[in-house]
Amino acid sequence: MITSTNPATGEVIATFDAHDQRQVDAALQGAWTAQKAWRRTTLEERSALLRRVAAVLRDRKPQLARLITLEMGKPIVESEAEIEKSAWNCEYYADHASAVLGDEVVPSGATESRVVYDPLGVVLAIMPWNYPVWQVLRFAAPALAAGNGIVLKHANNVPQCALELEKIFSEAGTPAGLFATVLVEASQVKSLIEDPRIAALTLTGSTPVGKLVASQAGAVLKKQVLELGGSDPFIVLADADLESAARTAVKARFINVGQSCINGKRFIVEAAVADRFTELFVQHASALKIGDPLQRDVAIGPMARANLRDELHSQVERTVRQGAKLLLGGRFCDGPGFFYQPTVLDHVAPDMVAACEETFGPAAAILRVQDAEQAIEVANAPDYGLGAALWTSDLQRAHALSRRIEAGAVFINGMVASDPRLPFGGIKQSGYGRELGVHGAREFTNVKTVWVG
Ligand code: NAP
Repeated sequence: MITSTNPATGEVIATFDAHDQRQVDAALQGAWTAQKAWRRTTLEERSALLRRVAAVLRDRKPQLARLITLEMGKPIVESEAEIEKSAWNCEYYADHASAVLGDEVVPSGATESRVVYDPLGVVLAIMPWNYPVWQVLRFAAPALAAGNGIVLKHANNVPQCALELEKIFSEAGTPAGLFATVLVEASQVKSLIEDPRIAALTLTGSTPVGKLVASQAGAVLKKQVLELGGSDPFIVLADADLESAARTAVKARFINVGQSCINGKRFIVEAAVADRFTELFVQHASALKIGDPLQRDVAIGPMARANLRDELHSQVERTVRQGAKLLLGGRFCDGPGFFYQPTVLDHVAPDMVAACEETFGPAAAILRVQDAEQAIEVANAPDYGLGAALWTSDLQRAHALSRRIEAGAVFINGMVASDPRLPFGGIKQSGYGRELGVHGAREFTNVKTVWVG
């Protein structure tokens, strides 16, 4: 049984039977058959489909945003922004499909030589609940533009979003079967990976699941893109614009109720400005309104699931026991739902829990360092390498330091965010491969050389 629970109330709002073997087989066969025809379409035809998907997303924004909020608790304004961004992503790839995926003539001494980007086939997308529409669309738009088909196994706490996405693609005129949602348990994913109709897979999720899925895909030699966890550093050097850094830091930590892989999680601050930065950070974090995520002025809704809140609370408690100072929060909110108070931990040392483990919720760890050298050392200490933010008024130094940060992205004087125009992904235990940008769009292609003598 797959259950949709409203995290703001703890009430079950819908239940679904998992798809049986016959339904899963029909989805795989449908996608496989549809992709054989889709791969022969032109880039213009594929772009036209993406534009229609964008239009349906915008048309359905009010209902879809509400559904996101009801299923996983994100504040409604953020749910609406997620849909806008997903629509923009479709339009971006519609506009740029031929630049990114068109043939490239490469002089080589042959009469003619070129690189062409053929699709791989049907890609299995294993997706998380935290951006239930965006995570799917950021992969799906370029993958479809490249001529692939998609079978979606979404996180089991967002089954309604998963089914709605299938409907949206269908309403946009996607060939029948080309985008299929399967409602299955995690234990059934291995057999999907092994199915010969699946050519490759993409997973956005936690590092342990990434490792498991990668080993299963490796055993049948199927390409994977893995977008996994992170413990992003947000470095503030003494010459930074502190007011702006603190304001952005609070947004970077608490957006999506702290449940984003690229939330700033460790705030690494030069000692000379640490007291002032901390004061500003606590001030802005205390002002965040907690409450019903359907209200437009609420910034902190519930966490998505009770077990995620329990895990975060345990991390906060263990970090305090290790000697960190609790400046704000550190408690469940009273009443129903899975609410957790915005939490700030100060004097966190690099070996404490909140600095070593990924904290997936509204809890910030402030780490004080002596200088920029130590900041880089501390930033690189965890095994993760997704994003990083670096605040300083010295741009030349920022560029030099950015090359020493072990991450898939460094945002100088800003917060890490994904953008269809720029590649997105991690290194180390944050995964491999890229989404978005030119690099992401070509992940699920056969980069083929065609040579004429
Ligand atoms: P998760 O448990 O790894 O789940 C992600 C997806 O994997 C879900 O669809 C889940 O399905 C599936 N899954 C779980 N166990 C599986 C198994 N044994 N075999 C195959 N599939 C399995 O992650 P989460 O807790 O939902 O999401 C939070 C994590 O995702 C965080 O670590 C976060 O950093 C990471 N994340 C990374 C990015 C990125 O872009 N790098 C973006 C967002 C989130 P079920 O729901 O059925 O278990």
